[in-house]
Amino acid sequence: MAHFFHKAVIWLFLFSCATSLPNPPDIIQKPIIFDQERKELSLAYMEEHYGLTPASPTIQPTMIVVHHTVIPTFEKSFEAFYPSRLPDTRPDIQSASALNVSVPYLIDRDGQIYQLMPDTLFARHVIGLNHCAIGIENVGDGDQHPLTDAQLKANIQLIRHLAQKYNIEYVIGHHEYQRFIDHPLWKEKDPGYLTEKDDPGDVFMRKIRDQLSSLPLKPIPE
Ligand SMILES: [Zn+2]
Repeated sequence: MAHFFHKAVIWLFLFSCATSLPNPPDIIQKPIIFDQERKELSLAYMEEHYGLTPASPTIQPTMIVVHHTVIPTFEKSFEAFYPSRLPDTRPDIQSASALNVSVPYLIDRDGQIYQLMPDTLFARHVIGLNHCAIGIENVGDGDQHPLTDAQLKANIQLIRHLAQKYNIEYVIGHHEYQRFIDHPLWKEKDPGYLTEKDDPGDVFMRKIRDQLSSLPLKPIPE
């Protein structure tokens, strides 16, 4: 009898887990380099741009920023984020730091999610907000290679998953980042360091927000 009761409790536990949690997304680990050089460049960026001097280049995520790569293939996008140093092809942001751009997540056009680095390591992908923002890049652009329904689904699944792990207050499109300039989260010290962004665009963000209405997210500043 005790044995039966024990089994019943285990089954009840498994059943309640299965019904209360959404399916975790299928994430393939595909790490970019995070060597001593990337670590030092990250720490230098945090100090120079944000006045932060932590012992290690880590963040406490409160925001998710959604991007598109403009680069049309997964392989070329991965190659762009891989090295620690920014390549010479980015003179627009080279003077601000030699740290290469990166994000923890890259979603291919078929919706497959790849994790390139841990969520809580510092990544350069959004001016002013890198100290608190997890970046999600999507292979594609707003023109020849519009983001796919599979990517939309993957973004929503991944954001829901991250919102369970961290206290996420904001989900924004990269094109919306300048709306945080006077917000307490904005830490960029150089007011002249701004770039114009149009990724991933209002249409994609509206579709994402429509399906995240159950999350306790804050509205972004006007
Ligand atoms: Zn972007």
